[in-house]
Amino acid sequence: MPVKSNNPETKAIHGGYRSDPTTKAVAVPIYNSTAYEFNSADHAAKLFALEEIGNIYTRIGSPTCNIFEERMTELDGGVAALSTASGHSAVAYSVLNLCQVGDNIVSSRNLYGGTWNLFSNTLKLMGIEVRFAGTDTPEDFAKLTDEKTKCYFGETLPNPKLEVFPIKQIAEEAHKQGLPLIVDNTCSPIICDSFALGADIAVYSATKYIGGHGSALGGIIVDSGNFNWENHKERFPLLNSPDPSYHDAIWTDVAKAFKANIAYILRARLILLRDLGATLAPDSAYAFIQGMQTLSLRINKHCENALEVAKFLSTHPKVKKVIYPALATGKAKQIADETLKGGYGGLVGFVIDGDIEAGKRFINNLNMLYHVVNIGDTRSLATHPASTTHQQLSEADRIKGGITDGYFRLSIGIEHIDDIIADIKQALEKV
Ligand code: PLP
Repeated sequence: MPVKSNNPETKAIHGGYRSDPTTKAVAVPIYNSTAYEFNSADHAAKLFALEEIGNIYTRIGSPTCNIFEERMTELDGGVAALSTASGHSAVAYSVLNLCQVGDNIVSSRNLYGGTWNLFSNTLKLMGIEVRFAGTDTPEDFAKLTDEKTKCYFGETLPNPKLEVFPIKQIAEEAHKQGLPLIVDNTCSPIICDSFALGADIAVYSATKYIGGHGSALGGIIVDSGNFNWENHKERFPLLNSPDPSYHDAIWTDVAKAFKANIAYILRARLILLRDLGATLAPDSAYAFIQGMQTLSLRINKHCENALEVAKFLSTHPKVKKVIYPALATGKAKQIADETLKGGYGGLVGFVIDGDIEAGKRFINNLNMLYHVVNIGDTRSLATHPASTTHQQLSEADRIKGGITDGYFRLSIGIEHIDDIIADIKQALEKV
């Protein structure tokens, strides 16, 4: 039996798995099988009727992915999880699982550029409106809410602005309105306990800190099990009324058979994953399981190094502005402190005193830091969002999002701090 613990360090290593039941392998095996044999015709029928849980076909679940899902469920203190082929599909499914044509959600406007595009363009084409709150305050979220609103959405530590999302306050407002809060916790696994603060669903790009080594792409949706879908039957028909695409299953009723509030994840797996197919590959699930074993050590080191880099940049004459939650002041600092309990994250933003050419000189002169559009890797990374991740946004949206031409985002790795600072220092000298 897997060891149970209340501590994230232990959960991330032992959650959901002890050893392989047939071989006794201690490392989680990669089950690279597309399909799984049924014991009998009756057994197959029971699996399809959800009277018994088991492996059927990898598009809707597989043993390696299941262990990753169980481990993340335990780590976050939820009831169930669904892994997906990318963080982006996790974000998309988390919303599509509640919305149909004519519905809307209310979201923070501080979002990863890809999510901004999904929300403001692609979901719109599907008939789902995303209303962006003016500010991350309960009042601004409430103002945009009506009977067609299905959830609130925000990113805990949104890059590039790194203004921490007030999970507690927005969750309180969401619950007052009878809505769940979905939080993208990609940049703050372990250091933000989003469910303890009131979030109902957490989504992650596992590609980042969870995998941690820049070697696999994937995502995960974790359900806290705290939102009572049945208390809001009319608001959530997709979970509370017969689903013609699964012989009229009512997901909240199906969940009762499992004695857990897992209707949301059941539908996400059995409808969205079945029909849209953004399934995580078992090899990638293995990379995330490996990554999780050192996640608590790594995230602490990322935070420790990032704080040192932020302090160094704050004193540098060529740096106009440094953005790091530990350096925030007033209300922003208060929110950062109550939301990020275990450190302020591994991302540091800064603006250089110079034009776009000066910015290019900084990037081109880095020796150790990689110039890539990724975050959460063991290696330190540098990105110039204006010319890369946020290039597809209009200039007005870009500036509104805090992305000026001189803005850089660093994802600070776990190398020795002296080497990280030395590289940044010598590149700044050439600006
Ligand atoms: N959410 C956040 C906060 C991200 O930073 C990213 C990617 O950078 C995503 C979601 C999308 O994840 P993926 O690239 O794994 O699809």
